[in-house]
Amino acid sequence: MELIFEKSVEGRCCALLADSDIPEYKLKESLLRKAPLRLPELSETDVSRHYTQLAERTHGINNGFYPLGSCTMKYNPRINEEVASWPEFTQIHPLQPRSTTAGCVEVLDLCEKHLCEITGMDAMTFEPAAGAHGEFTALLMIKAYHNSRGDSGRKKIIVPDSAHGTNPASAAMAGFSVVNIPSAADGRVDLDALKNAAGPDTAGLMLTNPNTVGLFDKNILEISRIVHKAGGLLYYDGANLNAIMGIARPGDMGFDVIHLNLHKTFSAPHGGGGPGSGPVGCKEFLKKYLPHSVLGENASASSIGQVKAFYGNFLVVLRALSYILTLGGDGLRIASENAVLNANYMMAKLKGVFDIPFDGFCMHEFVMSLEKLKKNAGVSALDIAKSMLDNGMHPPTMYFPLIVHEALMIEPTETESRETMDEAVEVLVNLYKDALTDSDKLHRSPYATPVRRLDEVGAARNPVLKYSFS
Ligand SMILES: *Cc1c(COP(=O)(O)O)cnc(C)c1O
Repeated sequence: MELIFEKSVEGRCCALLADSDIPEYKLKESLLRKAPLRLPELSETDVSRHYTQLAERTHGINNGFYPLGSCTMKYNPRINEEVASWPEFTQIHPLQPRSTTAGCVEVLDLCEKHLCEITGMDAMTFEPAAGAHGEFTALLMIKAYHNSRGDSGRKKIIVPDSAHGTNPASAAMAGFSVVNIPSAADGRVDLDALKNAAGPDTAGLMLTNPNTVGLFDKNILEISRIVHKAGGLLYYDGANLNAIMGIARPGDMGFDVIHLNLHKTFSAPHGGGGPGSGPVGCKEFLKKYLPHSVLGENASASSIGQVKAFYGNFLVVLRALSYILTLGGDGLRIASENAVLNANYMMAKLKGVFDIPFDGFCMHEFVMSLEKLKKNAGVSALDIAKSMLDNGMHPPTMYFPLIVHEALMIEPTETESRETMDEAVEVLVNLYKDALTDSDKLHRSPYATPVRRLDEVGAARNPVLKYSFS
Protein backbone atom coordinates (compact mmCIF):
# COMPACT_ATOMS: atom_id res chain seq x y z
CA MET A 1 0.00 0.00 0.00
CA GLU A 2 1.27 3.46 -0.89
CA LEU A 3 2.06 5.98 1.82
CA ILE A 4 -0.01 9.12 1.93
CA PHE A 5 3.07 11.06 0.76
CA GLU A 6 3.34 8.83 -2.31
CA LYS A 7 -0.31 9.52 -3.18
CA SER A 8 0.23 13.26 -2.98
CA VAL A 9 -0.38 15.32 -6.15
CA GLU A 10 1.09 18.80 -6.26
CA GLY A 11 -1.56 21.51 -6.05
CA ARG A 12 -4.42 19.23 -5.02
CA CYS A 13 -6.06 20.54 -1.92
CA CYS A 14 -9.07 20.02 0.28
CA ALA A 15 -8.89 22.99 2.66
CA LEU A 16 -11.75 25.47 2.35
CA LEU A 17 -10.65 28.32 4.57
CA ALA A 18 -12.44 31.67 4.48
CA ASP A 19 -10.32 34.76 3.89
CA SER A 20 -9.10 36.11 7.19
CA ASP A 21 -9.98 39.67 8.20
CA ILE A 22 -7.40 39.67 10.97
CA PRO A 23 -4.27 41.60 10.07
CA GLU A 24 -1.27 39.37 9.39
CA TYR A 25 1.46 39.43 12.00
CA LYS A 26 4.96 39.38 10.57
CA LEU A 27 7.25 36.98 12.43
CA LYS A 28 10.97 37.64 12.77
CA GLU A 29 12.98 36.37 9.83
CA SER A 30 14.90 33.96 12.10
CA LEU A 31 11.65 32.25 13.13
CA LEU A 32 10.45 31.58 9.58
CA ARG A 33 10.76 28.25 7.79
CA LYS A 34 13.46 28.10 5.15
CA ALA A 35 11.43 25.68 3.02
CA PRO A 36 7.69 25.13 2.84
CA LEU A 37 6.22 22.51 5.19
CA ARG A 38 6.14 19.17 3.39
CA LEU A 39 2.52 18.06 3.65
CA PRO A 40 0.80 15.55 1.37
CA GLU A 41 -1.64 17.19 -1.05
CA LEU A 42 -4.81 15.15 -1.55
CA SER A 43 -8.54 15.58 -1.93
CA GLU A 44 -10.78 14.90 1.05
CA THR A 45 -12.05 11.69 -0.61
CA ASP A 46 -8.48 10.44 -1.05
CA VAL A 47 -7.59 11.16 2.58
CA SER A 48 -10.73 9.44 3.81
CA ARG A 49 -10.10 6.36 1.65
CA HIS A 50 -6.45 6.21 2.67
CA TYR A 51 -7.23 5.95 6.38
CA THR A 52 -10.12 3.55 5.82
CA GLN A 53 -7.78 1.25 3.87
CA LEU A 54 -5.20 1.47 6.62
CA ALA A 55 -7.83 0.60 9.24
CA GLU A 56 -8.91 -2.40 7.17
CA ARG A 57 -5.38 -3.76 7.27
CA THR A 58 -5.17 -3.98 11.03
CA HIS A 59 -6.77 -6.60 13.22
CA GLY A 60 -8.59 -5.19 16.21
CA ILE A 61 -11.08 -6.46 18.71
CA ASN A 62 -13.88 -5.34 16.36
CA ASN A 63 -12.55 -7.52 13.53
CA GLY A 64 -12.48 -10.83 15.32
CA PHE A 65 -11.16 -13.04 18.09
CA TYR A 66 -8.00 -11.68 19.73
CA PRO A 67 -6.80 -14.22 22.33
CA LEU A 68 -3.40 -12.62 22.94
CA GLY A 69 -2.40 -14.09 26.31
CA SER A 70 -1.18 -11.73 29.03
CA CYS A 71 -2.55 -8.76 27.07
CA THR A 72 -6.27 -8.93 27.93
CA MET A 73 -7.57 -7.77 24.57
CA LYS A 74 -11.15 -7.47 25.73
CA TYR A 75 -13.93 -5.40 24.24
CA ASN A 76 -13.94 -1.79 25.42
CA PRO A 77 -17.50 -0.62 26.01
CA ARG A 78 -18.21 2.44 23.86
CA ILE A 79 -19.62 4.40 26.78
CA ASN A 80 -16.06 4.74 28.14
CA GLU A 81 -14.98 6.31 24.86
CA GLU A 82 -17.91 8.65 24.89
CA VAL A 83 -17.18 9.88 28.41
CA ALA A 84 -13.52 10.37 27.50
CA SER A 85 -14.50 12.56 24.54
CA TRP A 86 -16.56 15.08 26.53
CA PRO A 87 -15.06 18.55 26.10
CA GLU A 88 -15.29 19.12 29.87
CA PHE A 89 -12.46 16.58 30.08
CA THR A 90 -10.59 17.14 26.83
CA GLN A 91 -10.56 20.96 26.67
CA ILE A 92 -8.79 21.43 29.96
CA HIS A 93 -5.22 22.03 31.09
CA PRO A 94 -3.49 20.97 34.31
CA LEU A 95 -2.22 24.51 34.89
CA GLN A 96 -5.73 26.00 34.95
CA PRO A 97 -6.79 27.47 38.30
CA ARG A 98 -7.69 24.67 40.65
CA SER A 99 -11.16 26.15 41.18
CA THR A 100 -11.99 25.28 37.54
CA THR A 101 -10.76 21.67 37.60
CA ALA A 102 -12.52 20.24 40.63
CA GLY A 103 -14.32 17.64 38.49
CA CYS A 104 -11.06 16.22 37.12
CA VAL A 105 -9.55 16.05 40.60
CA GLU A 106 -12.65 14.16 41.68
CA VAL A 107 -12.20 11.68 38.82
CA LEU A 108 -8.68 10.93 40.06
CA ASP A 109 -9.75 10.69 43.70
CA LEU A 110 -12.72 8.43 42.93
CA CYS A 111 -10.70 6.14 40.70
CA GLU A 112 -8.00 5.90 43.39
CA LYS A 113 -10.62 5.04 46.00
CA HIS A 114 -12.19 2.28 43.89
CA LEU A 115 -8.90 0.77 42.74
CA CYS A 116 -7.58 0.75 46.33
CA GLU A 117 -10.76 -1.07 47.34
CA ILE A 118 -10.34 -3.60 44.51
CA THR A 119 -6.66 -4.25 45.28
CA GLY A 120 -6.48 -3.82 49.05
CA MET A 121 -4.06 -0.90 48.84
CA ASP A 122 -4.12 2.39 50.80
CA ALA A 123 -2.92 4.94 48.23
CA MET A 124 -2.23 5.19 44.53
CA THR A 125 -0.53 7.34 41.89
CA PHE A 126 -1.70 7.59 38.28
CA GLU A 127 1.52 9.08 36.93
CA PRO A 128 3.10 6.00 35.29
CA ALA A 129 2.15 5.71 31.61
CA ALA A 130 2.30 1.91 31.29
CA GLY A 131 2.85 -1.30 33.20
CA ALA A 132 6.62 -1.33 32.87
CA HIS A 133 6.73 2.33 33.91
CA GLY A 134 4.72 1.41 37.01
CA GLU A 135 7.17 -1.37 37.83
CA PHE A 136 10.09 1.05 37.58
CA THR A 137 8.27 3.60 39.77
CA ALA A 138 7.46 1.01 42.44
CA LEU A 139 11.03 -0.29 42.46
CA LEU A 140 12.33 3.24 43.09
CA MET A 141 9.91 3.41 46.03
CA ILE A 142 11.22 0.10 47.40
CA LYS A 143 14.75 1.43 47.10
CA ALA A 144 13.81 4.71 48.85
CA TYR A 145 12.16 2.74 51.65
CA HIS A 146 15.23 0.61 52.37
CA ASN A 147 17.60 3.57 52.06
CA SER A 148 15.51 5.67 54.45
CA ARG A 149 16.02 2.97 57.07
CA GLY A 150 19.77 2.95 56.50
CA ASP A 151 19.33 -0.50 55.00
CA SER A 152 21.18 0.26 51.78
CA GLY A 153 22.75 -3.17 51.36
CA ARG A 154 19.56 -4.54 49.84
CA LYS A 155 20.54 -4.62 46.18
CA LYS A 156 18.77 -7.72 44.90
CA ILE A 157 15.33 -8.27 43.46
CA ILE A 158 14.09 -11.84 43.21
CA VAL A 159 12.14 -12.67 40.05
CA PRO A 160 10.69 -16.10 39.18
CA ASP A 161 11.65 -17.46 35.75
CA SER A 162 8.01 -17.31 34.63
CA ALA A 163 7.91 -13.52 35.08
CA HIS A 164 7.00 -11.07 32.36
CA GLY A 165 10.19 -9.80 30.70
CA THR A 166 9.55 -6.28 31.91
CA ASN A 167 10.07 -7.37 35.57
CA PRO A 168 13.81 -8.14 35.40
CA ALA A 169 14.30 -5.25 32.96
CA SER A 170 12.66 -2.74 35.33
CA ALA A 171 14.66 -4.08 38.28
CA ALA A 172 17.90 -3.66 36.35
CA MET A 173 16.92 -0.14 35.25
CA ALA A 174 16.19 0.79 38.86
CA GLY A 175 19.75 -0.25 39.72
CA PHE A 176 19.07 -3.64 41.32
CA SER A 177 20.67 -6.93 40.40
CA VAL A 178 18.21 -9.64 39.45
CA VAL A 179 18.10 -13.05 41.12
CA ASN A 180 16.20 -15.50 38.96
CA ILE A 181 14.52 -18.41 40.71
CA PRO A 182 13.18 -21.46 38.86
CA SER A 183 9.54 -22.50 38.95
CA ALA A 184 8.49 -25.76 40.59
CA ALA A 185 7.17 -28.58 38.38
CA ASP A 186 3.59 -27.38 38.97
CA GLY A 187 4.43 -23.97 37.41
CA ARG A 188 4.34 -22.09 40.74
CA VAL A 189 7.09 -20.53 42.87
CA ASP A 190 9.60 -23.08 44.15
CA LEU A 191 9.51 -22.38 47.92
CA ASP A 192 12.92 -23.93 48.59
CA ALA A 193 14.51 -21.88 45.83
CA LEU A 194 12.86 -18.77 47.29
CA LYS A 195 14.12 -19.55 50.81
CA ASN A 196 17.64 -20.00 49.46
CA ALA A 197 17.52 -16.74 47.52
CA ALA A 198 15.99 -14.55 50.25
CA GLY A 199 18.44 -12.94 52.65
CA PRO A 200 19.87 -9.70 54.07
CA ASP A 201 20.63 -8.42 50.55
CA THR A 202 17.03 -8.94 49.30
CA ALA A 203 15.20 -5.73 48.45
CA GLY A 204 12.08 -7.52 47.33
CA LEU A 205 10.29 -10.13 45.25
CA MET A 206 8.37 -9.33 42.06
CA LEU A 207 5.46 -11.66 41.50
CA THR A 208 2.38 -11.88 39.36
CA ASN A 209 -0.50 -13.93 40.75
CA PRO A 210 -2.12 -15.50 38.82
CA ASN A 211 1.22 -15.93 37.12
CA THR A 212 2.10 -15.82 33.44
CA VAL A 213 1.13 -19.46 32.86
CA GLY A 214 -2.35 -18.63 34.15
CA LEU A 215 -1.99 -20.32 37.55
CA PHE A 216 -2.89 -18.96 40.95
CA ASP A 217 -0.10 -19.50 43.47
CA LYS A 218 -1.88 -20.93 46.49
CA ASN A 219 1.33 -20.64 48.54
CA ILE A 220 1.17 -16.87 48.38
CA LEU A 221 0.88 -16.33 52.16
CA GLU A 222 3.93 -18.54 52.75
CA ILE A 223 5.79 -16.70 49.97
CA SER A 224 4.92 -13.41 51.64
CA ARG A 225 6.12 -14.71 55.01
CA ILE A 226 9.49 -15.83 53.58
CA VAL A 227 10.18 -12.51 51.84
CA HIS A 228 9.07 -10.31 54.74
CA LYS A 229 11.01 -12.39 57.26
CA ALA A 230 14.13 -11.75 55.18
CA GLY A 231 13.37 -8.00 55.34
CA GLY A 232 12.30 -7.64 51.71
CA LEU A 233 9.12 -6.15 50.26
CA LEU A 234 6.57 -7.88 48.07
CA TYR A 235 5.80 -6.36 44.70
CA TYR A 236 2.69 -7.37 42.75
CA ASP A 237 2.66 -7.18 38.97
CA GLY A 238 -1.06 -6.53 38.58
CA ALA A 239 -1.25 -6.58 34.79
CA ASN A 240 -3.23 -9.81 35.14
CA LEU A 241 -5.88 -8.52 37.53
CA ASN A 242 -8.59 -9.60 35.09
CA ALA A 243 -8.83 -12.98 36.83
CA ILE A 244 -9.38 -11.79 40.40
CA MET A 245 -11.39 -8.54 40.52
CA GLY A 246 -13.83 -8.75 43.41
CA ILE A 247 -12.53 -12.20 44.35
CA ALA A 248 -9.02 -11.82 45.80
CA ARG A 249 -6.92 -8.76 46.66
CA PRO A 250 -3.14 -8.45 46.42
CA GLY A 251 -3.24 -6.34 49.59
CA ASP A 252 -4.69 -9.33 51.48
CA MET A 253 -2.09 -11.69 49.99
CA GLY A 254 0.70 -9.72 51.65
CA PHE A 255 1.80 -7.47 48.79
CA ASP A 256 3.17 -4.06 49.81
CA VAL A 257 3.22 -2.29 46.45
CA ILE A 258 1.59 -3.05 43.11
CA HIS A 259 1.06 -1.78 39.61
CA LEU A 260 -2.07 -2.19 37.50
CA ASN A 261 -2.51 -2.02 33.76
CA LEU A 262 -5.63 0.09 33.27
CA HIS A 263 -5.23 -0.44 29.52
CA LYS A 264 -5.61 -4.18 30.00
CA THR A 265 -7.98 -4.94 32.87
CA PHE A 266 -9.93 -1.70 32.96
CA SER A 267 -10.92 -1.57 29.36
CA ALA A 268 -8.96 1.09 27.52
CA PRO A 269 -8.04 0.45 23.88
CA HIS A 270 -4.44 -0.70 23.61
CA GLY A 271 -2.01 -2.46 21.36
CA GLY A 272 -1.24 0.48 19.12
CA GLY A 273 1.49 1.90 21.29
CA GLY A 274 -0.55 3.81 23.83
CA PRO A 275 -1.54 5.85 25.63
CA GLY A 276 -1.71 3.53 28.61
CA SER A 277 -1.79 3.85 32.35
CA GLY A 278 0.14 1.85 34.93
CA PRO A 279 -0.93 3.20 38.33
CA VAL A 280 1.10 2.21 41.36
CA GLY A 281 -0.68 1.42 44.62
CA CYS A 282 0.93 0.89 48.00
CA LYS A 283 0.28 0.24 51.66
CA GLU A 284 0.18 3.15 54.09
CA PHE A 285 3.83 2.80 55.18
CA LEU A 286 5.05 3.39 51.60
CA LYS A 287 2.70 6.28 50.81
CA LYS A 288 5.26 9.00 51.48
CA TYR A 289 7.53 7.63 48.70
CA LEU A 290 4.86 7.91 45.96
CA PRO A 291 5.64 10.27 43.09
CA HIS A 292 4.09 13.70 43.35
CA SER A 293 2.85 15.97 40.62
CA VAL A 294 4.74 18.96 39.30
CA LEU A 295 2.26 21.17 41.16
CA GLY A 296 3.68 19.96 44.42
CA GLU A 297 0.43 18.48 45.64
CA ASN A 298 0.82 15.72 48.21
CA ALA A 299 4.51 16.53 48.12
CA SER A 300 6.45 14.66 50.74
CA ALA A 301 10.15 15.16 51.36
CA SER A 302 10.59 11.41 50.90
CA SER A 303 8.85 11.25 47.50
CA ILE A 304 10.82 9.65 44.68
CA GLY A 305 9.87 12.73 42.61
CA GLN A 306 7.96 12.97 39.39
CA VAL A 307 7.87 10.19 36.79
CA LYS A 308 5.50 11.72 34.21
CA ALA A 309 4.11 15.15 33.36
CA PHE A 310 1.27 16.34 35.57
CA TYR A 311 -1.19 13.53 36.45
CA GLY A 312 -0.30 10.85 33.91
CA ASN A 313 -2.64 9.84 31.09
CA PHE A 314 -5.80 11.31 32.57
CA LEU A 315 -8.23 10.16 29.87
CA VAL A 316 -7.20 6.52 30.36
CA VAL A 317 -7.93 6.87 34.08
CA LEU A 318 -11.29 8.38 33.17
CA ARG A 319 -12.13 5.39 30.94
CA ALA A 320 -11.23 3.06 33.81
CA LEU A 321 -13.49 4.96 36.21
CA SER A 322 -16.32 4.86 33.68
CA TYR A 323 -15.79 1.09 33.32
CA ILE A 324 -15.73 0.54 37.10
CA LEU A 325 -18.87 2.61 37.68
CA THR A 326 -20.88 1.05 34.83
CA LEU A 327 -20.07 -2.52 35.96
CA GLY A 328 -20.21 -1.88 39.69
CA GLY A 329 -18.70 -4.19 42.27
CA ASP A 330 -20.84 -7.18 41.34
CA GLY A 331 -20.26 -6.59 37.64
CA LEU A 332 -16.48 -6.56 38.05
CA ARG A 333 -16.65 -9.84 39.92
CA ILE A 334 -18.82 -11.39 37.21
CA ALA A 335 -16.36 -10.14 34.56
CA SER A 336 -13.52 -11.94 36.34
CA GLU A 337 -15.56 -15.08 36.88
CA ASN A 338 -16.45 -15.20 33.19
CA ALA A 339 -12.84 -14.54 32.13
CA VAL A 340 -11.78 -17.57 34.18
CA LEU A 341 -14.72 -19.67 32.97
CA ASN A 342 -13.98 -18.89 29.32
CA ALA A 343 -10.31 -19.80 29.65
CA ASN A 344 -11.16 -23.08 31.36
CA TYR A 345 -13.81 -23.83 28.71
CA MET A 346 -11.32 -23.45 25.87
CA MET A 347 -8.59 -25.31 27.75
CA ALA A 348 -10.91 -28.26 28.43
CA LYS A 349 -11.92 -28.45 24.75
CA LEU A 350 -8.32 -28.30 23.49
CA LYS A 351 -6.83 -30.62 26.10
CA GLY A 352 -7.37 -33.85 24.17
CA VAL A 353 -5.49 -32.50 21.15
CA PHE A 354 -2.80 -30.12 22.40
CA ASP A 355 -0.46 -30.65 25.36
CA ILE A 356 -1.33 -28.57 28.42
CA PRO A 357 1.82 -28.66 30.56
CA PHE A 358 0.21 -27.93 33.95
CA ASP A 359 -2.61 -29.88 35.63
CA GLY A 360 -5.76 -28.48 37.16
CA PHE A 361 -7.85 -25.39 36.52
CA CYS A 362 -6.35 -22.26 35.02
CA MET A 363 -7.26 -18.68 35.78
CA HIS A 364 -7.89 -16.16 32.96
CA GLU A 365 -5.49 -17.77 30.47
CA PHE A 366 -3.65 -21.01 29.76
CA VAL A 367 -0.56 -22.20 27.95
CA MET A 368 -0.26 -25.04 25.45
CA SER A 369 3.00 -26.62 24.39
CA LEU A 370 3.49 -27.58 20.72
CA GLU A 371 6.86 -29.17 21.39
CA LYS A 372 5.65 -32.65 20.41
CA LEU A 373 3.95 -31.44 17.24
CA LYS A 374 7.16 -29.74 16.22
CA LYS A 375 9.12 -32.92 16.84
CA ASN A 376 6.64 -35.23 15.08
CA ALA A 377 5.44 -33.08 12.18
CA GLY A 378 7.96 -30.23 12.01
CA VAL A 379 5.17 -27.72 12.55
CA SER A 380 5.96 -25.00 15.11
CA ALA A 381 3.88 -22.71 17.29
CA LEU A 382 4.78 -19.96 14.80
CA ASP A 383 3.30 -21.96 11.87
CA ILE A 384 0.02 -22.52 13.76
CA ALA A 385 -0.10 -18.84 14.76
CA LYS A 386 0.44 -17.69 11.15
CA SER A 387 -2.27 -20.04 9.91
CA MET A 388 -4.76 -18.61 12.40
CA LEU A 389 -4.42 -15.28 10.58
CA ASP A 390 -5.95 -16.90 7.48
CA ASN A 391 -8.96 -17.75 9.64
CA GLY A 392 -9.59 -14.14 10.61
CA MET A 393 -8.23 -14.56 14.12
CA HIS A 394 -5.36 -12.91 15.89
CA PRO A 395 -2.85 -15.53 17.07
CA PRO A 396 -2.31 -16.20 20.78
CA THR A 397 0.88 -15.03 22.45
CA MET A 398 3.79 -17.17 21.18
CA TYR A 399 6.98 -18.40 22.81
CA PHE A 400 6.06 -16.90 26.18
CA PRO A 401 6.51 -17.71 28.98
CA LEU A 402 10.00 -19.01 28.25
CA ILE A 403 9.63 -21.97 30.63
CA VAL A 404 7.22 -23.67 28.19
CA HIS A 405 8.72 -24.70 24.85
CA GLU A 406 6.77 -23.94 21.64
CA ALA A 407 4.24 -22.12 23.80
CA LEU A 408 0.92 -20.71 22.67
CA MET A 409 -0.79 -18.72 25.43
CA ILE A 410 -4.53 -18.21 25.04
CA GLU A 411 -6.57 -15.59 26.88
CA PRO A 412 -10.13 -15.50 25.51
CA THR A 413 -11.38 -12.80 27.98
CA GLU A 414 -14.90 -12.49 29.36
CA THR A 415 -16.21 -10.52 26.39
CA GLU A 416 -16.19 -13.49 23.95
CA SER A 417 -19.20 -15.67 23.33
CA ARG A 418 -19.33 -19.45 23.46
CA GLU A 419 -19.85 -19.54 19.68
CA THR A 420 -16.67 -17.54 19.04
CA MET A 421 -14.67 -19.79 21.32
CA ASP A 422 -16.12 -22.94 19.71
CA GLU A 423 -15.10 -21.60 16.32
CA ALA A 424 -11.57 -20.88 17.54
CA VAL A 425 -11.28 -24.37 19.02
CA GLU A 426 -12.41 -25.85 15.70
CA VAL A 427 -9.83 -23.79 13.80
CA LEU A 428 -7.04 -24.89 16.15
CA VAL A 429 -8.03 -28.56 16.01
CA ASN A 430 -8.22 -28.47 12.21
CA LEU A 431 -4.81 -26.82 12.01
CA TYR A 432 -3.44 -29.59 14.21
CA LYS A 433 -4.83 -32.18 11.78
CA ASP A 434 -3.45 -30.26 8.78
CA ALA A 435 -0.05 -30.20 10.48
CA LEU A 436 0.04 -34.00 10.51
CA THR A 437 -1.07 -34.40 6.86
CA ASP A 438 0.18 -31.32 4.99
CA SER A 439 2.82 -29.56 7.04
CA ASP A 440 4.04 -27.64 4.01
CA LYS A 441 0.74 -25.80 3.79
CA LEU A 442 1.29 -24.47 7.30
CA HIS A 443 4.92 -23.57 6.70
CA ARG A 444 3.87 -21.30 3.83
CA SER A 445 0.96 -19.60 5.65
CA PRO A 446 -0.45 -16.99 5.92
CA TYR A 447 -2.03 -16.78 2.47
CA ALA A 448 -4.76 -14.18 2.91
CA THR A 449 -2.95 -11.32 4.66
CA PRO A 450 -1.64 -8.14 2.96
CA VAL A 451 1.92 -9.37 3.57
CA ARG A 452 2.97 -13.02 3.93
CA ARG A 453 5.87 -14.20 6.11
CA LEU A 454 8.07 -11.34 7.11
CA ASP A 455 11.80 -11.32 7.67
CA GLU A 456 11.36 -10.83 11.41
CA VAL A 457 15.06 -10.82 12.23
CA GLY A 458 15.71 -8.26 9.48
CA ALA A 459 12.81 -6.13 10.70
CA ALA A 460 14.19 -6.18 14.24
CA ARG A 461 17.84 -5.62 13.30
CA ASN A 462 17.43 -3.12 10.47
CA PRO A 463 14.10 -1.41 10.97
CA VAL A 464 13.17 1.17 8.33
CA LEU A 465 10.94 3.51 10.30
CA LYS A 466 11.22 6.66 8.25
CA TYR A 467 10.19 7.55 4.74
CA SER A 468 12.98 9.19 2.75
CA PHE A 469 11.86 11.91 0.35
CA SER A 470 13.73 11.65 -2.95
C1 LIG B 1 1.64 -6.39 29.84
C2 LIG B 1 2.36 -6.81 31.04
C3 LIG B 1 3.34 -5.97 31.61
C4 LIG B 1 3.83 -4.69 30.98
O1 LIG B 1 2.85 -3.74 30.74
P1 LIG B 1 3.08 -2.58 29.65
O2 LIG B 1 1.93 -1.67 29.81
O3 LIG B 1 3.12 -3.27 28.32
O4 LIG B 1 4.38 -1.92 29.96
C5 LIG B 1 3.93 -6.40 32.78
N1 LIG B 1 3.61 -7.58 33.35
C6 LIG B 1 2.69 -8.41 32.82
C7 LIG B 1 2.38 -9.71 33.50
C8 LIG B 1 2.04 -8.07 31.64
O5 LIG B 1 1.14 -8.89 31.11
